[in-house]
Amino acid sequence: MKVLVVGSGGREHALCWKAKQSPRVHRLYAAPGNPGIAELAELVAWSGEISELADWAQTNQIDLVLVGPEAPLVEGLADALEERGVRVFGPRAKAAMIEGSKAFAKSVMERYGIPTARYRVFHDALEALEYLEKAGTPIVVKDSGLAAGKGVTVAHTVHQAKQAVANILGPADEARSGEVVIEEFLEGPEVTVLAVTDGTTIKPLIPSQDHKRLRDGDEGPMTGGMGAVAPYPLGEALLAEVQHRVLEPLIAGMRAEGVVYKGVVYAGIMLTQDGPKVLEFNARFGDPECQTLMPLLKTDLIELALAVAEGRLHTLELEWHSQASACVVMAAPGYPDAPKKGLPLKLPKTPPQGVLYFQAGTKQTSGGLVTNGGRVLSVVGLGADLPEALERAYAGVEAVDFPQAQYRRDIGRKVLSRTFLSE
Ligand code: ATP
Repeated sequence: MKVLVVGSGGREHALCWKAKQSPRVHRLYAAPGNPGIAELAELVAWSGEISELADWAQTNQIDLVLVGPEAPLVEGLADALEERGVRVFGPRAKAAMIEGSKAFAKSVMERYGIPTARYRVFHDALEALEYLEKAGTPIVVKDSGLAAGKGVTVAHTVHQAKQAVANILGPADEARSGEVVIEEFLEGPEVTVLAVTDGTTIKPLIPSQDHKRLRDGDEGPMTGGMGAVAPYPLGEALLAEVQHRVLEPLIAGMRAEGVVYKGVVYAGIMLTQDGPKVLEFNARFGDPECQTLMPLLKTDLIELALAVAEGRLHTLELEWHSQASACVVMAAPGYPDAPKKGLPLKLPKTPPQGVLYFQAGTKQTSGGLVTNGGRVLSVVGLGADLPEALERAYAGVEAVDFPQAQYRRDIGRKVLSRTFLSE
């Protein structure tokens, strides 16, 4: 089979790494890919235009396309591929709206009784600012559209909240068109529940935990994700609750509205005192959760993607290695505001035991690898348990020559304390 992976981050490097292990794959392509992916797949230049890539896939008789990032899904890449008779692992634009519009996701949750924070949607800056005067703090302000993980402000003062609204809708006297979701502040541990679905059958993957803030102790600005661990000790009862109260009503509700959701659904969940509540839905694998989970997945990724694309997920059993996995993201100095490009970094010739390197914002030059984006490298450690996985991940970080890297030293610490508390 000819398989194309779309994207250029650590998530797509991990997808290529896993896809490459499938005996079904004879040729692997990636558009646009990165230097790490280039060691596994043939890179396809791509401007980002949807019909260009869909035409390329049709002309080159691609059998299956795996779409990593959200933007092409929201823009209709899955629709364009299916219209050309190309199988795709990823939802159509109407289904990807659960990520493309937070206001839409909130309305779906409301219609189907999915537990989430109370909220209001505003298009008018003046109305939003008036509401904030009365609403109290802390409060959460979200850009309704795609913002690459940087569109959310957890405001502790009314001033901060108003600033966040102004950043999205413009100041009250020169309002831009936009949409803002203002929602109740929730508290509790966060967990990512990813699932695969063909629109009827839903199979959750192993729960994991991301680390969204830049610095240790969950301090500093929001990022695209600084590290992840799996399995997260959610427990069977809570996982079943997420399945029955979140994933099933979402997928069945969308089907009832004529939208068959095929691909990955990402539920960002907060475990509040009142039970699990949805913080966000995404229409694709999380990055870095994907890098953490792919090495744990025993099932052939291509068999899984085909079962989803062909609507026969009920025929497939998901199998997992009984290991733990930890991912530490190494980011460029200046990330997330102004990551420094062109800084040299060097990976060891042979990775330390139990370590995998997945590249993201890197570029190959005649002098070697240099930084070319914010999140540069995902270092994954695998072990018999989480402490061993973390030890290996950090040994992997030490083995990289990238002295100016920013990375968190406390990945997995919250999960470890939770595990010990519950023992
Ligand atoms: P973007 O739209 O910019 O890509 P995102 O999709 O990552 O952002 P969310 O997951 O909705 O946005 O929010 C990011 C983080 O903000 C969450 O992981 C959580 O830590 C925090 N957060 C979001 N909503 C709430 C809430 N209601 N209460 C408390 N914290 C929240």
